Amino acid sequence: MTKYKWLQFRIYLSLAITTLLFLSVYVVLFYLGYQWWGKGRIKPGIVFVIIGLIPLIYAIFKSGKERGKIDKSSPLYKTMKDIAKEFNMKVPSKFYILPTTEIFVSGVFKKKAGVGVAALRAITKDELKAILRHEFGHFYGNDTVIGSFLARVQYSLEASSKFGKIALRAAPHAIIALIGLIIMVFAKTYSLIFRIIISIYSRQVEYRADYIAATRSGKEVFGKALLNYSAYITYFEQVGYSTVIHLLQEGKAMINIYDSVYNAYGKLDKKEIKKILFENDKGGLFSSHPKLRKRLRAIGLDPAAIELKNKIDKSAVSLLKDQKKLEKDFTTTITQMFHIKILHADAVARQGRCKHCGKQFQTLGELLKHESNCKKAS
Ligand SMILES: [Zn+2]
Ligand SMILES: [Zn+2]
Repeated sequence: MTKYKWLQFRIYLSLAITTLLFLSVYVVLFYLGYQWWGKGRIKPGIVFVIIGLIPLIYAIFKSGKERGKIDKSSPLYKTMKDIAKEFNMKVPSKFYILPTTEIFVSGVFKKKAGVGVAALRAITKDELKAILRHEFGHFYGNDTVIGSFLARVQYSLEASSKFGKIALRAAPHAIIALIGLIIMVFAKTYSLIFRIIISIYSRQVEYRADYIAATRSGKEVFGKALLNYSAYITYFEQVGYSTVIHLLQEGKAMINIYDSVYNAYGKLDKKEIKKILFENDKGGLFSSHPKLRKRLRAIGLDPAAIELKNKIDKSAVSLLKDQKKLEKDFTTTITQMFHIKILHADAVARQGRCKHCGKQFQTLGELLKHESNCKKAS
């Protein structure tokens, strides 16, 4: 069996297990209705299945949030177009430039792609292209279509479990509480098993996307891309974000987080960065991606032998249009994001009570609005 076929086989196998598990939810529901509730009648079985489908239909039609900036005139978009051409595919109809570290693709009918600007300083243009080829590898394998469906199944199970919990708590009768409890335990158990199986599927799909990217970009280029990107986003998310929080607590804010974090990163010892990266690279039952070292080995590279670079001369950041302005705007976005988080945590700690008069509120918006007026009044 060729390597690619072996990758395909593992994907199909995990998908088959997922499908069986998915169908078994409805078989169990039918049986519960048929035997337990209906005492041998078919109709209650069908009713139970239909009830079980409601959260799934809800999850399927629930649309995701739009986010980030869409700018088709930026050189980054052109790069994306070039890669699409290579794959003989259409350019994603939505293309987002985001303030974060993520680079992703998604979408069922309409393809979407997103590139976070945070990591662009730490990788070369060729490395970015290699990462984009990995992302297009996901389109190539229809991973975004299947992945989106699986995520919605997962979501519907979690929603059902929450619904059961509410019924259990608010139930006026013991029988309703019992039904709530059954729904909760049933959905929770399935959701847990599902999460594990979906994670296995997701990891297989990552190997295939890596294989496609490594074949098209050269394994050395892709390997370096993976290492440099992973190392930098880990640092950015830990050090960068915590600095923002720290400054906010002192009433200060960063002007350009991308500049500051990258400069600090460049002063670190390369070997030390790599050591910490591999030490923290744990993987696990629920992780959507395989361990970095495993991914590198899977494309035929020795993780110890690849050199990490923490200073990039001609980085992919040059693909941004109005780079400085964009980075400043995005720094503000990130700062606001954490500001809200801090305010929220603070409000939770006070159980939603006003810090001046102690009145309690249900939402953060209401509390903040009240507090600003309350302060003026006192
Ligand atoms: Zn991927
Ligand atoms: Zn008040």
